[in-house]
Amino acid sequence: MIRQFELVERVKAYDPSADEHVLNRGYVFAMRAHGTQKRANGDPYFSHPLEVAGILTGYRLDTASIVTALLHDTIEDTGITLDDIELFFGEEIARLVDGVTKLNRIELQSERAKQAENFRKLVLAMSQDIRVLLVKLADRLHNMRTLCFIDNPEKRQRIAKETMEIYAPLAERIGMQEMKGELEDLAFAELNEHGRDSIVARLKFLRDKGEEIIPRIISQLRDTLSNNGLNAEVYGREKSPYSIWRKMQHNNLNFEQLCDIMAFRVIVDTVEDCYRALGIVHGSYPVIPGRFKDYISVPKPNGYRSLHTGVFGPERQRIEIQIRTRDMHEVAEFGVAAHWHYKQGGSLTDGRQYQWIRHLLDILDQAGSAGDFLDNAKLQMFADEVFCFTPKGDLITLPAGATTIDFAYAVHSEIGDHCVGAKINGKMMPLRTVLANGDQVEVLTSPAQTPSPTWERFVITGKARARIRRFVRTREREQYAQLGRSILEKTFREHALQFSEKAGEEAIKAFKQASVEDLCAQVGAGHLTARTVLESVYPSTKKRPSLYERMMPRARAKRASKADEGGVPINGLIPGMAIHYAGCCHPLPGDRIVGVVTTGKGVTIHTIDCDSLDVYSDSPERWIDVSWKVDAESPSTYTGRIDVTVLNEPGSLGNLTTVIARGEGNITNLKIVNRTAQFFDILVDVEVRDVKHLNEILAALRATPSVTAVERARG
Ligand code: MN
Repeated sequence: MIRQFELVERVKAYDPSADEHVLNRGYVFAMRAHGTQKRANGDPYFSHPLEVAGILTGYRLDTASIVTALLHDTIEDTGITLDDIELFFGEEIARLVDGVTKLNRIELQSERAKQAENFRKLVLAMSQDIRVLLVKLADRLHNMRTLCFIDNPEKRQRIAKETMEIYAPLAERIGMQEMKGELEDLAFAELNEHGRDSIVARLKFLRDKGEEIIPRIISQLRDTLSNNGLNAEVYGREKSPYSIWRKMQHNNLNFEQLCDIMAFRVIVDTVEDCYRALGIVHGSYPVIPGRFKDYISVPKPNGYRSLHTGVFGPERQRIEIQIRTRDMHEVAEFGVAAHWHYKQGGSLTDGRQYQWIRHLLDILDQAGSAGDFLDNAKLQMFADEVFCFTPKGDLITLPAGATTIDFAYAVHSEIGDHCVGAKINGKMMPLRTVLANGDQVEVLTSPAQTPSPTWERFVITGKARARIRRFVRTREREQYAQLGRSILEKTFREHALQFSEKAGEEAIKAFKQASVEDLCAQVGAGHLTARTVLESVYPSTKKRPSLYERMMPRARAKRASKADEGGVPINGLIPGMAIHYAGCCHPLPGDRIVGVVTTGKGVTIHTIDCDSLDVYSDSPERWIDVSWKVDAESPSTYTGRIDVTVLNEPGSLGNLTTVIARGEGNITNLKIVNRTAQFFDILVDVEVRDVKHLNEILAALRATPSVTAVERARG
């Protein structure tokens, strides 16, 4: 039996400010109240409340809880009243004792009238202060530890069943793993003695055969981690007979098939170290598929956080490993009580720092809404980072929401620039895939690949974005410069002049450009027209008709101009020339466009970035500056072409066409250009009003789950 001074010392050890007078008074009061009452095993009855108080000191509970434990059976079993307790110990302790007493009463009345779930709810509703429940659970734990002394087998069975159905789940729900495990195992011994005995015997056999296998695995795990620069505490244990038995039942396995009877814990300093440890473990031992669980980014509703994984460990044994920080470990072992000793004397539900407990209490109130709670918890806890690995096991930490492209750039800029795809956990996935904790990412590269402007939409890290943007700008500028130079050369040639370096040098002064290259880029991007450049260098060219104009018979030009007013929505055309829209790039109103004179066909309109324009780069005289006439009065439709990648699964194509139809796009052609086991690449021609309309459809497609990539087709 715990002595009076021992109990006080235990409390003082974790709470130096504890009121020892109250503790002493509680001890003496309960001892006197229970007097000569005896337990079933012949011990003085007082040993029971004392042991319950002792269990709670293990959870470092506050003085009021410890005194409540000492007094918890006095009202029911002795002549003491609630008023007496309030008089001697004050309102708070009286309220707590009253709560535990009421719980004991409903327990006696309930029998089988209520379903376990209802009874659990009832217990929770009655435990308005979470400390009431903690005392009740400690009470039940001690009763289970001494269950074997009760003679009546039916009573033993009833108590064991109640423990299994009601109290063990309650302990789990408030995160007290250790207590839950012990309650279950004690109940299991009563409810299925033979089952437990056979497992215990089997464990003993393995233990004898294994010759201290657990200590060996512990030291090897510790060495593996420290060789990789991570100092961690490693603990190991056999799983409890009940958890082994349940696993055998659940998975329909016999003992020989069930090898993972050992569980190891790795305790590290920080969350990042948890993932680092995981990377080392996965890089050092063969991983058992399907066993990895990340309860750090998605904690259990009871606040439990850890990484779980299964590997073939150092001794080629299947082992389970749990990785967590010290804080997580405290919560895992003590649950709600872990947070208790930080805040003595107040209500547990006060204070912003105890938000998760408040949430917990909410869910306790309405048992069954664990799923909803989980969603909220996900948003609140550790939602800001994601931890991934290279194939070699190096840890890459990224902001949550990061994609494969972010990962590639985080590994190395060159890898980012040339990435073409990625295997995530061994499976080919699109570049835009958002990474999850624990993903192992193998980036595939090709020297021919360069960053694409569309990547900017898929990345969230600054490094990746800056790199892509810089690359795209440089390339865009080069293209504009090339285009601008062609336009200038053509314009000058039309006036029988030459766009020489000397002319260029003169023009850059007039337009305040740093170089001829810059000037050309300005023209190419449409910020300057070739004509103004020409006129600034050769003022005499002003108003002089161009070569084309001089070639065109006036009358015909006039006639065409009239016809033109009715239909063609393009500015800058030579009147009378036939136009058509290029089938490669499908220009739409809103696009920057250029006209190319094609023998026998008139003018073909391309988007300015169309790849097919390369063919005409040597014949700049065929290029014409054109633009769209904005004409809202006469709306008409144009055909845009999009390049879509969808998952190869039932319903994908249906989704695609539905989304386009909902966006008021009319599909005129659809062509599957590539088909793999996982994806379809499809070209879709859609009639739209303008580029804005097409972009709206593209956006809707991007939001469609079965669509993995969608782009406007270019050339
Ligand atoms: Mn009791």
